[in-house]
Amino acid sequence: MNFIDLALQQSRIREKIEENIKKVLDHGRYIMGPEVKELEDRLAAYVGVKHAIGVASGTDALLMALMAYDVGPGDAVFTSPFTFIATAEVIQLLGATPVFVDIDPETYNIDPEKLEEAIMQIQLESELESKGIMPVDIFGQAADYDEINTLAQKYELFVLEDAAQSFGASYKDRKACSLSEIAGTSFFPAKPLGCYGDGGMIFTYNDDMLEKLLSIRVHGQGTSKYENVRIGVNGRLDTLQAAILLAKLDIFAEEVELRQQVAARYAERLEGVVKVPAVKEYNVSAWAQYCIRHPKRDEVMAELGRNGVPTAIYYPVPLHLQKAFTNLCCQTGDYPVSEEVAADIFAIPFHPYLSEADQDKICDVIRKFK
Ligand SMILES: *Cc1c(COP(=O)(O)O)cnc(C)c1O
Repeated sequence: MNFIDLALQQSRIREKIEENIKKVLDHGRYIMGPEVKELEDRLAAYVGVKHAIGVASGTDALLMALMAYDVGPGDAVFTSPFTFIATAEVIQLLGATPVFVDIDPETYNIDPEKLEEAIMQIQLESELESKGIMPVDIFGQAADYDEINTLAQKYELFVLEDAAQSFGASYKDRKACSLSEIAGTSFFPAKPLGCYGDGGMIFTYNDDMLEKLLSIRVHGQGTSKYENVRIGVNGRLDTLQAAILLAKLDIFAEEVELRQQVAARYAERLEGVVKVPAVKEYNVSAWAQYCIRHPKRDEVMAELGRNGVPTAIYYPVPLHLQKAFTNLCCQTGDYPVSEEVAADIFAIPFHPYLSEADQDKICDVIRKFK
């Protein structure tokens, strides 16, 4: 049994993938070939946002968005400590300060009430200038954007949606990646929509941001190739990865449906046995991970391992306790909900093609565990 089985998906669309790769080999436009634009157009339409910009990874998507907002030293950006390192890493990489805000104990997403407290505290007690909010749609479920966007307007902050795990999800009938002025997603192979390498996409409604992002994507290029008007990066999405994603996109909506079925079956069998994910009634999750909680986590994981079931922990250490952020002088106890969740959460195998037999086997081991 695999934790995520990409081979089953590939066997469905192998011919189309090969055909798309062959087209790229034939035209030879490996950098910014026509497939990149085609993918941008199709994903912008899928998400319902005006502009999509293909980039080299999810991390670059977030980094470039922050660069487009001119985030730098002296700036505070509010985010969750219960996420993948990249979220807060890019803030610090630009010399700005990540200000962590604890999470909701049910959804594991940033807690809007605590967010307002943190914004007010920075205003009163800090020299930092509050610039923006980076909510994370953790495990594929969107954060509470109506609340977050209202706070952003009140305090004049930007909102950058870290949708690396939530492509395909929706919130109040709006698609993830469209829930604030700008969003970044990832096509890392294990994400809901994954390519065969690294890739990502930025989505925005804002025409000025588009202009800046197109420039940042190629070394801060101006109107001609050798005119550079700002500092940028080499942040382009490979043509080959775009070609692969185009093949995968044909079956993506169906896969999002299959993910709902797999999640529902897990919930049916595990509810009351362990703490299963809580999805708000107005949310549809993309189910990047299926994470459950158990007071004897390490022992259940070991028992699953003995039965041939792979597991993983997202995330064993909240970011405020990572060595990389010692400069922020955080301590154990600062974000208690994140710390509690990190102590007993783990992920079980999840992908659209997980068989009912495998699901039942996994659930049996967990149900029998004493
Ligand atoms: C995967 C991920 C990223 C980074 O994406 P890459 O494509 O791996 O660079 C950022 N944020 C979150 C929450 C992620 O899960």
